Amino acid sequence: MDRLHGFDSLAVHAGQDFDPTTGAVIPPVHFSSTYAQDGIGGLRGGYEYGRSGNPTRTALQEQLAAIEGGAHALSFASGLAAEDALLRAVLRPGDEVLLGNDVYGGTYRLIARVLGPWGVTVRVVDMTDTAAVAAALEERPARILWVETPSNPLLKVSDIAELARLGHAAGSLVVVDNTFASPALQQPIRHGADVVVHSVTKYLGGHSDVVGGALVFRDDTVFDETAFLQYAVGAVSGPLDAWLTTRGIKTLAVRMQRHSENALAVASFLAADDRVSAVHYPGLATHPQHELASRQMSSFGGIVSLELEDAATARRFVESTRLFQLAESLGGVESLVNYPDAMTHASVRGTELAVPETLVRLSVGIESADDLVTDLAAALDVL
Ligand SMILES: *Cc1c(COP(=O)(O)O)cnc(C)c1O
Repeated sequence: MDRLHGFDSLAVHAGQDFDPTTGAVIPPVHFSSTYAQDGIGGLRGGYEYGRSGNPTRTALQEQLAAIEGGAHALSFASGLAAEDALLRAVLRPGDEVLLGNDVYGGTYRLIARVLGPWGVTVRVVDMTDTAAVAAALEERPARILWVETPSNPLLKVSDIAELARLGHAAGSLVVVDNTFASPALQQPIRHGADVVVHSVTKYLGGHSDVVGGALVFRDDTVFDETAFLQYAVGAVSGPLDAWLTTRGIKTLAVRMQRHSENALAVASFLAADDRVSAVHYPGLATHPQHELASRQMSSFGGIVSLELEDAATARRFVESTRLFQLAESLGGVESLVNYPDAMTHASVRGTELAVPETLVRLSVGIESADDLVTDLAAALDVL
């Protein structure tokens, strides 16, 4: 794939060579858990056992590394399994993670409640405020600077290049959770990040039919240690999950374009309605980091959040839409609505990361924009 440089070409072709024995254009799914050896240690293509390696997973890992502009990628059974492998490969008792104050609830739960008892600490800062991040790092070094941008669920946008500069100056590993933007819209490694994290369950898979996670590494930094944990602990993606993710990635660029167009239509509609008290979408000129988002991202993605008058109204709204299905998760072709306080972010209730009770999060799908707006208008009418 050395000749290909365009994102869309890499998404379709990287790691996807046709099958040399049959000519099958789509590489087969390899379900085998083990591999025949030509005498002891005589491995064909390095494959020995399904936890240590699988050709379908290799194909996905090559595709992931190519589309994020990284040197290596590792594929896991979930986004949190990927995060866990990275965190445990890098952190030792006494180490600290500096985390944004608006992140996926499960990331905070993993660091605070799973790694906490092993001596890891977490400090929370507003990542959109680079002066506050600089001050926090000066006060005390952090082994990892963990950036999620745009953030879940408030769509805050952080300056990856500036945070990478600050983090590296303080000796931190700079990690970016790129789940919301996907590499079709934002490539953190090109802005200086060391490791990119994905819940491939969301846009990379893209069809709400697979749970998976990935890590992409800029260079060899912490790669061997993390690959060792992937092998030694074993939270790998299964062959069919890896294959479904690969198929999803091939259409990522066109999906993200439509997700972004539809989300802008939805956000603009909501912003003009006075029953809606706030709309959070980086594509709106009124978003506090709209200018930064315009520089850092090629488009603004498919997630929009909004605030209504009070918690009861927000709860009624999410139970009133018809096309927007009430469900956790995001990033599929179908539109979903979620009430973060009691659903995706219930685990951060009462912490520094708690989300407003008036908040509703929309994952805007690729349906007809008119139908999406009509559905939201009808739900507002019955409040
Ligand atoms: C969903 C999500 C995760 C966790 O991924 P899973 O695949 O559910 O384990 C991590 N980060 C973000 C931003 C997410 O939305």
